[in-house]
Amino acid sequence: MTRLLFWIALVILVVAAIRSKLRAAMTRAQGPATGTGPAPASAGGDTKAWSRVEDQSETMLCCAHCGIYFPASEAVRADGRDYCGTAHAREAHQQAR
Ligand SMILES: [Zn+2]
Repeated sequence: MTRLLFWIALVILVVAAIRSKLRAAMTRAQGPATGTGPAPASAGGDTKAWSRVEDQSETMLCCAHCGIYFPASEAVRADGRDYCGTAHAREAHQQAR
């Protein structure tokens, strides 16, 4: 009788282990790409890391004169438009007149 109980306990343990492994694999497969299911506890840390990456990356602007893309910190604003440099801002301003 004790042998039977031992085997039943072993089967229950194996099934529980497989279930937990499958659930971990499923949550890993779903990941942050879909994000429809209930998010795991580690998801908060992931989003924080992503926002940190976005903070480091700079927004790119398009020069209204030559159309080149450049970092927003180097932008020269003139007449409500963004230019890649003072030269293009001046040129565009002279052409507008
Ligand atoms: Zn330009």
